[in-house]
Amino acid sequence: MHSSLYRSLLPTTATSNQSIITKNVDGFHQEAGAKNVLEIYGTLRSASCTKCEYKVATKEIAGEI
Ligand SMILES: [Zn+2]
Repeated sequence: MHSSLYRSLLPTTATSNQSIITKNVDGFHQEAGAKNVLEIYGTLRSASCTKCEYKVATKEIAGEI
C-alpha cells in the first residue's frame, strides 16, 4: 500500500535524532520502522498530555518538540 512511501522517509529519520510529526492515524510511519513519530491531532495552538490531559500553549514548548 503506502509502505514504500513511508519507508522512503526512513533514510532521513533512521540515521538522525529527527522526528516525524504526522496527523496520520494509520500507524504506517511506525510500521515502516520510524522510531521518533509525534502524532498530532486537532490544533497546533495547544498540546495536551495523552495520559493526564495537561494542556499547554504550543508556543511555550516549541523548542522542546
Ligand atoms: Zn501528563
